[in-house]
Amino acid sequence: MSLIELADLICPNSLSMDKLNEMYPKRNLEEGQMVTRFAPSPTGFLHTGSLFTAFINYKFAHDSKGIFYLRIEDTDQEREIEGSTEILQKQLEQFGIVYNNDLKYAPYIQSQRKQIYDSVLHKLILENKAYPCFLTKEEIEEIRKVQEQENVKTGIYGKYAKYRNLDCKEAIELINNGVPYVVRLKSNGNKYIYKDILRGELKLQPNDYDIVLRKSDGLPTYHFAHCCDDHYMGTTHVIRGEEWLASLPIHYELFDMCGFDIVNYLHLPTIMKSEDGKRRKLSKRKDPEASVTYLLEMGYPKKAILEYLLTLANSNFESWLKDNNNIDDFKLSKDYFSLDGALFDMNKLNSISKEWICNNDIDVIISDIINYAKEFDNSLYKLINSDLSYFKKIMSIGRNSINPRKDYEKYSDIYSKIKFFYNDEFNNMKEYEGNYPSELVNDVLSFVLDNITYDTEDEWLLAYKSKASELGFAKNKKEAMKLGVEYNFADFMNIIRIAICKDTNSPNLYDVLKIIPTVDIINRINRFLNKE
Ligand code: GLU
Repeated sequence: MSLIELADLICPNSLSMDKLNEMYPKRNLEEGQMVTRFAPSPTGFLHTGSLFTAFINYKFAHDSKGIFYLRIEDTDQEREIEGSTEILQKQLEQFGIVYNNDLKYAPYIQSQRKQIYDSVLHKLILENKAYPCFLTKEEIEEIRKVQEQENVKTGIYGKYAKYRNLDCKEAIELINNGVPYVVRLKSNGNKYIYKDILRGELKLQPNDYDIVLRKSDGLPTYHFAHCCDDHYMGTTHVIRGEEWLASLPIHYELFDMCGFDIVNYLHLPTIMKSEDGKRRKLSKRKDPEASVTYLLEMGYPKKAILEYLLTLANSNFESWLKDNNNIDDFKLSKDYFSLDGALFDMNKLNSISKEWICNNDIDVIISDIINYAKEFDNSLYKLINSDLSYFKKIMSIGRNSINPRKDYEKYSDIYSKIKFFYNDEFNNMKEYEGNYPSELVNDVLSFVLDNITYDTEDEWLLAYKSKASELGFAKNKKEAMKLGVEYNFADFMNIIRIAICKDTNSPNLYDVLKIIPTVDIINRINRFLNKE
C-alpha cells in the first residue's frame, strides 16, 4: 500500500495544487500595496487588544492603498460563542474599520475551507511530510511523564513521535478500523532566518515538534490554517499579537514544507496595564476597559478611541495630532512602535476624548451623541428627542471661543450635566444645599430677575460684576482676604447657579441664562426665593 492510498483515505475530495492556484491566484498588487487581515476567533465580544490589532491591520492596508479583509477563525468549535461573529462584524463597521472580502478569495470562514486544508494536507502526506498519529490522550500523558523523568522537553517530537514512521499499510488498517487519529507534521527541525518587521532578525530555536495539523474532528489547527489561508488568500503581511512570536519557527517550517513563500510578519506589542507600579496584561476579568463594549457604553466617541489606539501604536502620533485632525491622513510607521508593551491609560483616553468632543464640528458630535443615546442612554435620548434644537444649543455652549470649554469627557457624562436645562428633570432634582445668608441670596436673585438677558457676554459680565461689588462681594478670593470680606464674585455666581441649576457647577452661566427660556428662569428664581 502506498502513500497515495493513505493520502486519499485521509483527505478524500482533495484538489490538486494546480487547481488551488487557479482558484486562488496571486493578487495583482502594485509596489508597496499591503494585504492584511484581521482573523478573530468568534469566542465573545471584541477585546480592546483585538480592536487594536484590527485597526492597525486596517490602517496599514489603508495607508498603502492595499486590501484589508476579515477572516473568521472558527476551528475551535468548543470555544465558539454563538452570535459573536455578527457582533464582531457590527463593531468593526461601527468603528469604520471597513473590510473588503472579495468573493474571489472566499469563503472567509475557516470551517468552510476544509477542502483547501485537506488538499494541502494530501500533498504533505504524499510527500511524506505529514502522517496520521494514533496516540491516545493517556499515551501522550505517559510520554510526558517519561520526558519529565528524563528531564527533557515535553511534547511529541523525535523518538517520542511513535507513529511518525508507521508503515502505510498499518496506518490504513487502523484508520479503516475506526481508530481515532490526528494528522501531524513530520518536522525536519530545519533552521530558518526568523524575521519580524518591528524586531528584525530573531534568535529562536527551530521547531522540531510534530505539531498537529488536523485535529481528530477533521478541522485544522491554527498553525496549519494560518499557513494555508494566508497563502491562498494572498496576505502580504500577517500583523498579529506578540503572543504568536514563539510560534514563528513552526510557521516558517510549515510555509516551507507546503512550498509557499513566507509572508511578512509584524507582531504587535501587547496592551498592558500598570497596577501598583507593575505592568501586567490588560485583563478581561479585571479591567472593564478591556472590553470594547464597555468603552462604547461609557460613550467614548469611536474616533477618539481610534485616536487613542494610535497613540499606543506610534510614538510620533500625538505630536502629529496637535497640527492635524483627520487620522486618515496619518501614516503609520514601523519605526515608531514601542516594543515594550503599550500601556493602556484611562486618563489619557479621557483627555483625548475630551479634546475630540470639544474640537469637532457640532453637527458631527450631535449625530454621534444621538447614535450613542439611542443605544445606551435612554434618559438622554428622551431629552434630545423632546427638542433637538434646544439640545444643540446646550451642546454648543463655549465651542466657538478660542479657548473652547471641555465640559464632557464622554457621552455618558452629558445627561447628568445638562438635565437641569429641562423643567421636568429640574423639578425632580435634589436641592443643592448652599449656605449663603438669605438676605444676600435675596439681593442677588432679585437683581437677576430684572437682568436676565444681555446682547453680549461682555455686557452681561460687566453688569453682574458691578452689582456684585455694590452688594459687597470682593472681586476674587485674594481681594476678599485683603478686605476681610467673606464672599467674592464666585459666590455671587454660585448663588445664581444654585437657584437655576441646583448645582454650583454648570456650563457657562451667560449661556445658561440665554438658553433656558426667561419665563422658566423667573419661575426657578421665584420658587427658590419663596422656599428660602
Ligand atoms: N485567531 C487568532 C487569534 O485570535 C488569529 C491570530 C492571527 O492573526 O493570525 O489570536
